[in-house]
Amino acid sequence: MATTTSTTAAGERAARAGISTMWHLQIGWQYRAACKGPQSDLFFPPNHLERKEDRHERESAAKAICRSCPVLTQCRDYALMVREPHGIWGGLNEYERRQLLARRAG
Ligand code: SF4
Repeated sequence: MATTTSTTAAGERAARAGISTMWHLQIGWQYRAACKGPQSDLFFPPNHLERKEDRHERESAAKAICRSCPVLTQCRDYALMVREPHGIWGGLNEYERRQLLARRAG
């Protein structure tokens, strides 16, 4: 997904989601993201059907990067706030984020 080494998974996903440039600039935390560079492809599903085992392997690799990310909390909070429907954000996939939101709603 990343086309340059300065692009982050979070930033590119925000752009793909149609989030405005102004909003994009307001999430400056993404520039400290550990998912900069070519490994950002790990953070969202491919355009073709993905086998369950491949998905698990891809997501595990992405989550390992998230665990070392200095902006994990900001990224997770952002994804929860905008109800990001796809990909790994803040160390959680879309199902885990929905579960967390449901628990918080309680
Ligand atoms: S927490 Fe994960 S998805 Fe979010 S910016 Fe960091 S590495 Fe990227």
